[in-house]
Amino acid sequence: MVVGERKPFDEITGMLEGHKKIMVLGCGGCVTVCLTGGHDEVRVLSSQLRMARDNAGNPIEIVEKTVERQCDPEYVEEVSGIVPDVDAVLSMACGAGVQYVAERYPGMPVYPALDTTFVGGSTKEGYYVEKCQTCGACKLFYTGGICPIARCSKSLLNGPCGGSTKGKCEIDPEVDCAWQLILDRLKSLNRMDLYEENMAVNDWRTNRDGGPRKMIREDFQR
Ligand code: SF4
Ligand code: SF4
Repeated sequence: MVVGERKPFDEITGMLEGHKKIMVLGCGGCVTVCLTGGHDEVRVLSSQLRMARDNAGNPIEIVEKTVERQCDPEYVEEVSGIVPDVDAVLSMACGAGVQYVAERYPGMPVYPALDTTFVGGSTKEGYYVEKCQTCGACKLFYTGGICPIARCSKSLLNGPCGGSTKGKCEIDPEVDCAWQLILDRLKSLNRMDLYEENMAVNDWRTNRDGGPRKMIREDFQR
């Protein structure tokens, strides 16, 4: 999932200066799972904003709404009846969701309440780790299902740097050395032959070269 975290409160209130009626718009997708932008977080942030503005003698009216996904025009459409009645939208989605809302409602200021941080998952409640840097050419077959790009601090593709100590990364002793994990896993799978293969020099063009990437399912094109 896409993981995000809420921006500092002062930054959010700064964006909303001058606005009297806003919609705080949550997303039922990834940011709900990572407890930063779903229905409950919309309620909490809205209450905080109302309180802060009341205390400042500058009240704000807030419409609370959460849609299934903000990265899907079908669901973004659901708030079309609300948007004309507010003067800004504060989106609690990832950066993709914010942009979908902004594109659908061109005359409406749409602000991000979150910082989108990485693609990852949780290891325990409230603890999230990065797992993938969306390089566009997945190498997990060769590395036992452990990403060398996202999880090795140096994104090394052909083995460890040699700096790890007791399985921990030399960059951060709190972090497992990804290559230690990869080697342990390949051994347990009896696939050390994969480690012996030199991985080709990475083609970073699939990563970000050439601007925004796209994926087209030809079977869905008419
Ligand atoms: S190799 Fe690339 S696509 Fe695969 S998990 Fe790592 S960053 Fe993601
Ligand atoms: S210690 Fe391991 S994870 Fe850290 S940079 Fe070196 S190979 Fe990568």
